[in-house]
Amino acid sequence: MTKLLLDAGHGGHDPGATGHGYREKDFVLQICRRIKQIFDTEYNGITVRLTRSDDRFISLGERSRIARSWGADVFISVHMNAFNGRTGGIETFKHRSSSASRSLQQNLQSHMLQELRKLGNTPNRGNKDAGFAVLSGTYKHMLSCLTEVLFIDSPGDSKIFKQNTFVERAARAHVLGVIATRSGITRKPNASASKPAPSTSSNSWMDHTGQAVTDLQNKLLQAGEKLPRFGVDGHFGSETLQAVQSFQSKNGISNPNGNHYGVPGPQTMRALDQAATKPSYVGKGVRSTYDGRLNFYRSKTWSNPAGSVTKGYGFPTIVAKHKVGKGEQYEVKNSNGQTFYITASSKYVRVVG
Ligand SMILES: [Zn+2]
Repeated sequence: MTKLLLDAGHGGHDPGATGHGYREKDFVLQICRRIKQIFDTEYNGITVRLTRSDDRFISLGERSRIARSWGADVFISVHMNAFNGRTGGIETFKHRSSSASRSLQQNLQSHMLQELRKLGNTPNRGNKDAGFAVLSGTYKHMLSCLTEVLFIDSPGDSKIFKQNTFVERAARAHVLGVIATRSGITRKPNASASKPAPSTSSNSWMDHTGQAVTDLQNKLLQAGEKLPRFGVDGHFGSETLQAVQSFQSKNGISNPNGNHYGVPGPQTMRALDQAATKPSYVGKGVRSTYDGRLNFYRSKTWSNPAGSVTKGYGFPTIVAKHKVGKGEQYEVKNSNGQTFYITASSKYVRVVG
């Protein structure tokens, strides 16, 4: 029986590397949770634990203490890299004094290359030695490696990790790397490939399908965002993610790192509901397009005009639209805050601003 301890890097106040609106701590948590789920549902002969299963900070010393006190056979710390915004690739580290971990390292690295290159090309940065704290604290007691799954700030690698199946491919690569290293891990009889589980990490919407996603997509469209390729398909993929990020960017909604992260959290949902229920003309101005004098009124009526405006003139603020007789009027305010009513017909006026 192999005891595998997975260590999702960073967490809590420590986002790790960031890039393209993503955070290392979220991706690596998703990957580790998925690795555990695959082993739990599809394989015998292995028990998997995580140093953290949610978005919390754990010190480096604590991570290796957990590994030693549980008596793990295999320790894998999962990370994503960042450098100068141009460098990309995959690399796997072991402690410089650990020859025992070499086969685990080679198996993880080769399977990561094999799985992630199904999604796009990325450099092989190879198998390396290092003295990282989590490796120093574990290598004498167990096989231990640290994987760097792509560069989160690389435009090239972003084409891979922005794909819906990135987390799945990265998780499968680690699973295959462990199986190739340890004997006695066997497929459960009748085990079919399990579905990725809902994640509690902060981009848990990614890859989800269902009514909540459909509702979200409809609100995004009503708020003026675009879903050009897939439309309202009930699946939260990269297109929906980009629409959420675009909405967040326009509405000044960002995470503590200043990223428009693409997670429709409570703040985004409130703003979306507002945008979706508020007609587009509210808060904008209205101007006459009529060659002549266009009447406005003190109440919802078409008689006894309070005054008139000429072409190009109007009111700075539309408050609402009302049905009046057979037509419609905008309830407007002038620059002094006085309320008037003017036709809302696009034959005579246009909304501006
Ligand atoms: Zn890291």
